[in-house]
Amino acid sequence: MEPSKFSAAEPLQAFLQSIDVTTLSADEKLHALYNQMIMLLERITDAFIALDTSWRYVYVNQRAEEILGFPRAELIGKSLWDVFPALLDTHVEQLFRKAMQTQQPIQSEFLSPALHIWLQVHIYPSSNGLSIYLLDITQRKCIEEELEQRSTLAKRFVDSNIIGVLLASEHYIFEANDAFLDLLGYTRADLQAPGINWQSITPPEYHAQDQQMLQQLKDGVHHVTFEKEYYRKDGSRAPVMLGATLYQAQPFQVVCFILDISGRKAIEQRKDDFISITGHELKTPITTIKGYTQLLHKILERQRIQEPLLFLEKMNEQIDTLTRLVNDMLDVSRMHEGKLEFQLAEMEIDTLLHDIVETFQQMKEQPSSATHTIILTGETHERIVGDPNRLRQVFINLINNAIKYSPNANRVELHVEKQHDDIVVSVRDYGIGIPKEHLSHIFDRFYRIYDLQHKGIQGLGIGLYISSELVQRHGGKIWVESEVGKGTTFYVSLPPIYKRQLQMPPGV
Ligand code: ADP
Repeated sequence: MEPSKFSAAEPLQAFLQSIDVTTLSADEKLHALYNQMIMLLERITDAFIALDTSWRYVYVNQRAEEILGFPRAELIGKSLWDVFPALLDTHVEQLFRKAMQTQQPIQSEFLSPALHIWLQVHIYPSSNGLSIYLLDITQRKCIEEELEQRSTLAKRFVDSNIIGVLLASEHYIFEANDAFLDLLGYTRADLQAPGINWQSITPPEYHAQDQQMLQQLKDGVHHVTFEKEYYRKDGSRAPVMLGATLYQAQPFQVVCFILDISGRKAIEQRKDDFISITGHELKTPITTIKGYTQLLHKILERQRIQEPLLFLEKMNEQIDTLTRLVNDMLDVSRMHEGKLEFQLAEMEIDTLLHDIVETFQQMKEQPSSATHTIILTGETHERIVGDPNRLRQVFINLINNAIKYSPNANRVELHVEKQHDDIVVSVRDYGIGIPKEHLSHIFDRFYRIYDLQHKGIQGLGIGLYISSELVQRHGGKIWVESEVGKGTTFYVSLPPIYKRQLQMPPGV
């Protein structure tokens, strides 16, 4: 048997009985037993101290020397209270005295007033004094304290009801705080009712997103955040921002944080309504002004009055810019409402791009394109299906941006080629470039970069949003590569007609 495996709580007898003393004399037996016991006490991981009935140290093992901070030579024969006067008048003194008086073993844990560490102590009294086993449990206590602090913090956070918190399995909600219940109008009992689970309170269009979130957490993603809606008890919808994180893998449980975003959504809706109404209100007067400008142009031409014609052309240009802006605004609100319509046709992508570049060359007299030459290279001979006007809109927007954001350059390069099974068109400029931190946002609605380089270049921040929506609705992808000061390349990939017939997405 290996003596060092003994712990203080285990009886010594088992070890002592294992010593074969049958062949020894009585004195030798005693000596052997004594030696074995000392060896054992030196090897145990606990500190061991023996005190006599006058509280004097009789024995101190090696570990006890370490914990008490004194060599045994300085302790043996001295009173516990003389060595550690800080113990007097404390609950530790009471504990030791009680053990001595009652002759009952005592076990306790305390923060030592003398050593300032947490100790677990087992006191075994006998008529000779006390046998004391000490274990330094400071590390365990610190961990316990930290855990307790954390759980208090978490509990305070949940109880504060600032945001909704719920604990759920794959299907059921086990616990929800008041903030979550108040948000949806349910009681705790409602959530326990049969048939109620977190799918039943989620509109069907969000089920796939919920499933994806659960899968991501199962796959080890640390946390997932997304916007969704819940059904309130009265049947109305509550828009929320949901953050979920894994609580435990087996059985699978997640903690979700739910933030009410109905205020923000209402403001967004008002903004969308405003854009839509303004767009529609502006459209009629602009069309009328355009009509009268053209009429005036014709009359002046007929009467051969040259000078005002120049001003009229400038007016016409501005009206066209205004028309584009209004159309963009209307597109954004139509997209948001899912009401964008497409006039589908078959076309050759090479021809479409040639036409677009030609249009730009013809507009050479316009200040925006006068400065830049648009160069088209590559060919695919591929046919695509889509709305030609909408696809023109995408590429014109990219070319206009390339010109707008490269004021010191004089060329924009378009290239078309087949990559694997897709048609990829790139629009490259040698302009100011886009800082890295903005790259993932520039396709967001109303996103504009406000830094020194972009300062003074006007726009609404919706062109790329519209382009990306249009490309996606054509089954394609749009992405960007850029380096500040060197230039930017936008890429649009579109499926050729044969591929598209196989997998036509809804809406196009
Ligand atoms: P805007 O009307 O502001 O041009 P867009 O949606 O077309 O709106 O573009 C969004 C933002 O992306 C722009 O404000 C600009 O900061 C940046 N951007 C777009 N194209 C380029 C480009 N070719 N070079 C540098 N920055 C660009």
